[in-house]
Amino acid sequence: MAHPVPPDFVVIFGRPGSGKSSLAERMGAEFGYNLIRTGEMLRAAIRRHDFLGQRVESHLAKGDLVPDSLIFELLEANLKSPGVSRLLFDGFPRTLGQVPLLEQFERRLDFRIDCYLEVVVSREEAVARMTGRRVCPKCGATYHLIARPPKVAETCDRDGTRLERRPDDTAQVVEFRQQVYDDHALPILDHYERKCPDLCRKVDGAQPFEAVYAETRRALGVRG
Ligand SMILES: [Zn+2]
Repeated sequence: MAHPVPPDFVVIFGRPGSGKSSLAERMGAEFGYNLIRTGEMLRAAIRRHDFLGQRVESHLAKGDLVPDSLIFELLEANLKSPGVSRLLFDGFPRTLGQVPLLEQFERRLDFRIDCYLEVVVSREEAVARMTGRRVCPKCGATYHLIARPPKVAETCDRDGTRLERRPDDTAQVVEFRQQVYDDHALPILDHYERKCPDLCRKVDGAQPFEAVYAETRRALGVRG
């Protein structure tokens, strides 16, 4: 049976370049989800340079992944009580090892995830999207070689500045991030498909953004 409102506690998955984060922001704006983003929490902790931040930094400085135990502490510090607010987890759990951490949170804070949402795009499509992105270093305008090309090749429409790739968008980094997703997120999705198939939803992320958003609302049981 369809619900008039979306579920309160959602985890969203999608490979880099899937548009997952824009979707999460839009859902947050429309339905009042509190976005739980461990990546942002990590960066904020580093900026604060507190005890937690210093430990996070020491792992990253060595090129290590931040250990799950530290991610857990970080979430705990940020997520004392969900209260009545809706939570949308974007980027957590990131590894199979973090799945039990989420379960611990559910028990401790007394909520249950009611939807695991996957934004599906092929790896090839995601790579094409990411390597095609360009940004103006002067005004910050963003372009895409295929989806939103500038009028003059590699040149900002507003101020004529030569466009650049973001440092994260080089082919090597893009492929690495896709591989990380395949290695870590796909096993998590398999896990939930087996454990609670009725809570798993997929949307086709290869469509234009508005169509993906409309499909997402339907997948969450929102009418109208
Ligand atoms: Zn510009």
